[in-house]
Amino acid sequence: MSTTNATAAAAREAALLAGIPTQLSIGGEWVDAADGATLPVRDPSTGEVLVHIADAGVDDGARALDAAVAAQESWAATAPRQRAEILRRAFDLLQERADDFALLMTLEMGKPLAEARGEVTYGGEFLRWFSEEAVRVHGRYGLNPEGTGHMVVSQRPVGPCYLITPWNFPLAMATRKIAPALAAGCTVVVKPAALTPLTTLAFVALLEEAGLPGGVVNVITTSHSSAVSSPIIADPRLRKLSFTGSTPVGQALLREAANGVLRVSMELGGNAPFVVFEDADLDTAVDGAMLAKFRNIGQACTAANRFIVHESVADEFAARVAERVRAMRVGRGTEEGVQIGPLIDDRAVATTGELVADAVGRGATVLAGGEASDGPGSFFAPTVLSGVAAGSRLLAEEIFGPVLGITTFADEDEAVRLANATEYGLVSYVFTQDLARGHRMIDRLDTGMMGLNAGVVSNAAAPFGGVKQSGLGREGGFEGIHEYLSTKYTLIPS
Ligand code: NAD
Repeated sequence: MSTTNATAAAAREAALLAGIPTQLSIGGEWVDAADGATLPVRDPSTGEVLVHIADAGVDDGARALDAAVAAQESWAATAPRQRAEILRRAFDLLQERADDFALLMTLEMGKPLAEARGEVTYGGEFLRWFSEEAVRVHGRYGLNPEGTGHMVVSQRPVGPCYLITPWNFPLAMATRKIAPALAAGCTVVVKPAALTPLTTLAFVALLEEAGLPGGVVNVITTSHSSAVSSPIIADPRLRKLSFTGSTPVGQALLREAANGVLRVSMELGGNAPFVVFEDADLDTAVDGAMLAKFRNIGQACTAANRFIVHESVADEFAARVAERVRAMRVGRGTEEGVQIGPLIDDRAVATTGELVADAVGRGATVLAGGEASDGPGSFFAPTVLSGVAAGSRLLAEEIFGPVLGITTFADEDEAVRLANATEYGLVSYVFTQDLARGHRMIDRLDTGMMGLNAGVVSNAAAPFGGVKQSGLGREGGFEGIHEYLSTKYTLIPS
């Protein structure tokens, strides 16, 4: 980049950051943390502080819940069409500001700008989808089997919700929860990850502009997640907890939610198998692998984690992906043509390195990458390993980095056994040209979602979620709004 262009880009980043709210949004007011504390938000590609924002404490969390509780009744009584139109306006505003939101995500999270733009599209679709769903919440009415009365079944908002989101998709994880909650008539307190809070802050400001009344969405940013969250979850006025993040944290939050018998949605970790059969179209499989593995720098719950490839095509598959990976451009996500940005922090780089070293120590061969890059920034080279042995940590743990490890299988039963050999069950990818085999795999894999000859499955109109330890509940689709509704039955004797 020329010096003039670099100066212009830096000025644009500074202007964008200067316009982002840095306070908490509670009851429609932007306020500092009660004790004035702040926390730094860093650019993972440089390690530099982008901005300081409010660091909420326990009192701030309590005030945010108070505000959500106070707004609940009137929001639930707001006409569905009116709620829908606010969501729709938010969708339109997001389209107008797509470039700003994309750049903001790249700055705080590191993903390449083109991918950040893709997330604006994906994240925005939840606003549009749930604006359409808000007006289609129906019950049913009918005579009981005895003929002695009428049964009325209606849907009511569950009430105030606490929404906790992770750092890897700063916009989409927020809209995927906030939009259905608002559509259903629930008020919320949302707590983004401390590593990437800016996108949520900007999005909540956008919701206000779209006409959302104060107190319906409250946002707290904090470096004390556990201390601030526990009293909110323990408060009997809270009616729902929706969490996206790692399985261990989800398990701890489930235990906390059990005390209040809260409604819960849990979108947790994954360990997706990517199965390539001997009859697969290898061009399609390689394209799918690049997307399923390297999108978001491998930091996606849906990232393909284990490449399980038929022994007759494994060498060719490995050679082809390694060639593509060696050609990938690594750098700051704002730079033109970059495909691999930084990992979220140095700890992630260290963990990725440990997983690679463990696999290599057990006999895997490095076909591309294999190492962290020197600073500044938290970079790990995109990596391909073949011959990953059973027992390697790479097969058991969620990698959350740009490492593609290949193992082989001999027949369909073995492929199914290997694919299902995990406590997770979020998504699976299967590549085959045999339609009957594809259908068999839909039935045989323990998974909440599946890509059949596809490397990305997410869609606002589809139910997103997992089985086993990948979670409870679904986000998106017709199912998504029901996470925020409770069913009420009334008998009217005739
Ligand atoms: P994480 O579990 O560390 O944190 C997620 C969120 O929970 C953050 O906001 C964090 O501040 C908060 N948190 C952490 N400990 C808490 C506690 N004790 N009480 C309350 N809040 C707490 O996860 P992460 O590192 O931010 O995100 C990566 C994980 O998220 C991966 O495991 C990934 O698979 C998962 N994820 C799942 C989905 C899905 O839809 N299934 C989507 C994206 C990410």
